[in-house]
Amino acid sequence: MTLTATSLLSDRLLNMSESATLKMARMGRELRAQGHDIISLSLGEPDFDTPAHIKDAAKKALDEGYTKYTPVSGLLELRQAIQHKFKRDNDLDFGLDQIVVSNGAKQSIMNLCQAILNEGDEVIVLAPFWVSYSEIIKMAGGTPVILAAGIESDFKVSAQAIADAITSRTKAVLFSSPCNPTGSVYTYDDLAAIAEVIGKHDDILVFSDEIYEHINFTGKHVSIGSFDAVKDRTVTINGFSKGFAMTGWRLGYIGAPKWLAAACAKVQGQVTSGATAFGQKAAAYALEADMTPTHDMRAAFLKRRDMVRDLLGAIPGFKVNQPQGAFYIFPDISAFFGKRHGDTIIHGADEFCEYLLLDAHVAVVTGEAFGAPNCFRISYAASEEQLREAIRRIEAAVGKLV
Ligand code: PMP
Ligand code: GLU
Repeated sequence: MTLTATSLLSDRLLNMSESATLKMARMGRELRAQGHDIISLSLGEPDFDTPAHIKDAAKKALDEGYTKYTPVSGLLELRQAIQHKFKRDNDLDFGLDQIVVSNGAKQSIMNLCQAILNEGDEVIVLAPFWVSYSEIIKMAGGTPVILAAGIESDFKVSAQAIADAITSRTKAVLFSSPCNPTGSVYTYDDLAAIAEVIGKHDDILVFSDEIYEHINFTGKHVSIGSFDAVKDRTVTINGFSKGFAMTGWRLGYIGAPKWLAAACAKVQGQVTSGATAFGQKAAAYALEADMTPTHDMRAAFLKRRDMVRDLLGAIPGFKVNQPQGAFYIFPDISAFFGKRHGDTIIHGADEFCEYLLLDAHVAVVTGEAFGAPNCFRISYAASEEQLREAIRRIEAAVGKLV
């Protein structure tokens, strides 16, 4: 008998999609290696380097011998810094045994899903959602229940829609605010209404992904875990990738009910043993250090948000909202569906993005992967010059569609 992928790969794997964000980043790199002038606006990654003082803290930690395993949940020093940060910035009270540091917020979410989901358990996911949510839930045996909101409601799902979607199998509600991919921010009132709905159910958790906390243009970030109704059942997910430009360091964390933090540590203890020691030491330093570089990055993203919004909004057929955070914009381009250029017919967002890659040499990500088939995502974590050129090319390419 010959070994084949389908005979050996698990159903779980075969049922899972490749990360669309990472796939487009890979395709962009491959075309560039073939000599094409590709502008990649696909990956959600700050184009800034990690601030020098954080890098220095890691170098110092290496020299001091932080080269060994740490406690699975994270160095005490880092958990203390996170505890302080949660109190200072988010009005959240967590004990040290309620905090777990992981290899990126991505792993934090995986730990959570592995910890709570049995086959067929449901997680309500507010869409548009970050691509990995649905696949992580499925990998853990759960069923993602996608609740979608379109551009007309600023891509925000109502508390009533959540109330209507809750079943006896619902275990958690998962969403990000500021949101990847839309940049939308759930306001204090939006969160209060959601907290009220979920607070009525003692057996439903809130998984609140706040990794874009520091890239929030509304002035004040609000954590849903600070509402009394859901205080005891909210897991606040955060990390260093976005706010501190530390994507490659792979550092994320949660504050969770004690029993759930212990369960996540149990999962992690069998999978990665925890995050890098010297990285954790630098992360502890980062949380207490000068935040000026983070504020400067936010100011740069805000300036680009305005520019990108205005330029895209002026293209006939593009509908854009006003993103209030993160570094993404998520135009609705359904006006182009059914149009063509030569042999290329734009049936939906997948073909639209493929067309932009091949015709305009601009890599973006299809809305299909985010649960929003009318849209596509642009990451504006790129220089103003690149953004202007990319949008010029996009406008020229869509101008050819008839
Ligand atoms: N949540 C959201 C909403 C994201 O956009 C990302 C992207 N990196 C993550 C979690 C995971 O971040 P990381 O694993 O780099 O901490
Ligand atoms: N979160 C980023 C994105 O949405 C990084 C890539 C990924 O992990 O998905 O592009």
